[in-house]
Amino acid sequence: MSSRAPPVGIDLGTTFSCVGVFQAGKVEIIANEQGSRTTPSYIAFTETERLLGEAAKNQAAMNPTNTIFDTKRMVGRRFDDAVLQADRKLWPFAVVDEGGRPLVQVMYRGETKRFSPEELSGMLLGKMRDTAESYLGAPVRDAVVTVPAYFNDSQRQATKDAGAIAGLNVLRIINEPTAAALAYGLDKGLRGERNVLIFDLGGGTFDVSVLTIDEGSLFEVRSTAGDTHLGGEDFDNRLVGYLAEEFRRKFKRDVNENPRALRRLRTAAERAKRELSATTESTIQVDALMDGIDFYTKISRARFEELCMDLFRSTLPLVEKALADAHLSKAAVHDVVLVGGSTRIPRVQSMLRDMFNGKQLYASINPDEAVAYGAAVQAAIISGDKSANLQEVLLVDVTPLSLGIETAGGIMTAVVERNTRVPCSLTKTFSTYADNQPAVTVQIFEGERALTKDNNLLGTFDLVGIPPAPRGVPRIDVNFDIDANGILNVSARDASTGRSQAITIRNDSGRLTRDQIERMVADAERFRAQDAVARERVNERHRLEDYALAVKRALDEVGSRLGDEGARQRATAACDEALMWLDAVPDASKDDVQRRFRELQAVCMPVMTRLHQTGRNTGPTIEEVE
Ligand code: AMP
Repeated sequence: MSSRAPPVGIDLGTTFSCVGVFQAGKVEIIANEQGSRTTPSYIAFTETERLLGEAAKNQAAMNPTNTIFDTKRMVGRRFDDAVLQADRKLWPFAVVDEGGRPLVQVMYRGETKRFSPEELSGMLLGKMRDTAESYLGAPVRDAVVTVPAYFNDSQRQATKDAGAIAGLNVLRIINEPTAAALAYGLDKGLRGERNVLIFDLGGGTFDVSVLTIDEGSLFEVRSTAGDTHLGGEDFDNRLVGYLAEEFRRKFKRDVNENPRALRRLRTAAERAKRELSATTESTIQVDALMDGIDFYTKISRARFEELCMDLFRSTLPLVEKALADAHLSKAAVHDVVLVGGSTRIPRVQSMLRDMFNGKQLYASINPDEAVAYGAAVQAAIISGDKSANLQEVLLVDVTPLSLGIETAGGIMTAVVERNTRVPCSLTKTFSTYADNQPAVTVQIFEGERALTKDNNLLGTFDLVGIPPAPRGVPRIDVNFDIDANGILNVSARDASTGRSQAITIRNDSGRLTRDQIERMVADAERFRAQDAVARERVNERHRLEDYALAVKRALDEVGSRLGDEGARQRATAACDEALMWLDAVPDASKDDVQRRFRELQAVCMPVMTRLHQTGRNTGPTIEEVE
C-alpha cells in the first residue's frame, strides 16, 4: 500500500458500526466488502478462524456461545456492575470475573480463550479500519471515535485503549450527538443562531443533546441527558419475551433453555421489528425452532407498540431534562434531529412530534450514518483539512456528569459542575480535617447525588507529607483537568509549603495498565495474521476444488476421443479422491492442501496436455492450471 490515508471517523455502535472519511471537500461513508454501509458489531470464534461483522452475525445461530455482540455494553465496566450483571443474563456467551474485570470466555481454535471488552472493541475497530483501508488503498492510522454522551471517564478511556489495541492513533473521542450535530450543521449550511435537539435512539443507548449552532459554525453543546441502557435491543428483548411465552404456551417448551433457538428467535424478532416500521403486521417464521417444532406467528404494529410503550415513553422525561438543563423552552428549539436506527419506529416519531406540538422532525441525514459522518468531519478538522466548508467549524463540548471529591461525612463536593465546557482545568482549595493531619486521601467521584456513596468512584490517591498544622490551615489545591476527549486528570498540591507533591492515581475503575494494552496490541496483530492465514487456507481449498472439478468436466466432455482411456480414468479418479479428501479434512492446513494440489496436478498434467493436443481444449479452466 502507498502513503498514509486521511484520518477516518468511526461510529463504534452497540449493534452496528460505521466508518466515514472526509475527502475532496465531502464525507464518504465507506461500504464493507459485502457492500453494506454499516457493519454489525459482531465477533465470532470458530474451530478454525475468527470472523468479524456480517460473517460473524450470519453464523450466530449455529455458534451462539462463541459469537460476541454488545461489547460496548461491557466496555469500562466492572464485573459486579449492576447493568452488566443484568445484561449477562441475556447473553448466550460466557462473561467471567477476573480480578473484578469482566472477560468474555470463548472456544477459539480448540482452546478456551478469554478476551477483555477493550480487546473485542479493538477487533471491531480493526475491522472498520480494514474496511477503510481497502477503500482508500493506503494504511489508515488516525481516527476519531465516537462514544455516547453519557459514557463516563473509564468507558471513554477504555474506548481509547480499544483504539490503541487496534493499532489506531485515536485523535479524539467525541460524543455521538455532537458528531450528529456536525453532520447536520454541514448538511444544512445554516444561517443565524439555531437551537437543535438531537434525539439519538440506537441499538443500545439513548442520548439526547441540546446544541446551539451559530452561523453553521459554532457548535455549543448546552446539555446532554440519556440512558446507557435503552435502545433497539431492548425492544428486541420485549418481542423475544413475548414470542417465547407464546411458544411455551403452544408447545410447552422453553426457548430460554436453548441458546441457539433463542438466537434464531431474536434474529426473527429483529427482522419483524424493522418490518413493523413500514407495515402494520409482520409474520414470524422460524423452521425447527426447537425439538423440530416450526414456529409461525404474526405480530401487529399495535401489539409491538404496546409491548414497548413504557420504553418509548421513558425517552420523553429525558428530553424535558435536557431542555431544562439548557434553559430552553420547547418553542425555542428550531430543529429536532433524528439519529439512530430506532428513530425509524413510527410511534417514537409521533410521540416526539406530539411533544413538540406537531413540529416537523428533521430526518434528512441517514440516521444510521450521521454519527460516522460527523466523526469524519471532526477528523478532517483536527488534521487541518483546508476545505472551505470546514473553515471555522469549532466544537464546544460539555461534561455529562459533575466531577468532584469526597469531603468529611461522605459529601460529594463538585470541582467541575455538570455541563461545564471541555476542555477545562479547574482548581478548588481544600484543607485538613484534624489537627496535625499528615496526609489526605483524595477520592474522585462523578455523579449528581449529594452523598458520594450514591455516585461513581473513579479513583483514589493519597497526598502525604503535609507539615504539622492545626486543622483547616494547610491549603491543598485540587486540580481537575479534562482534555478534549473528556478524559480526566486530577492532581493535588500542598500550597501551604509551596511544594507540589507527587501523586498516584490508584486504578479503581477497572482500567487497563500500559502492559496489558501492549500485550493486547501484540495479540491483535497476531489474530489479524491468523485471520489472513485462515483466508489463504480457504483460497487454497477453492483452488484445489476448482481444478479438480474443471479437469473432471474436461475429461468427461472429451470422453473416449482422448485415446487413452486408462489415463483418463486414473485422472478422473484422482480428482474424485481429492474432492473427497477436501470434504473429509475440513481443517487441513494450507501446506497440506497445496501438497494435494501438486500431487493431483502430477497425475492430471500428462492427460491434460494430451487433451490440448487433441484440439479439445476446454479453454479458460485449463489455463488456470498454471
Ligand atoms: P444504530 O445503532 O443507530 O445503527 O441502530 C441500530 C438499531 O436500530 C437496531 O436495534 C436496529 O434493530 C434498529 N433499527 C434499524 N432499522 C430499523 C427500523 N426500520 N425500524 C425499527 N428499528 C430499526
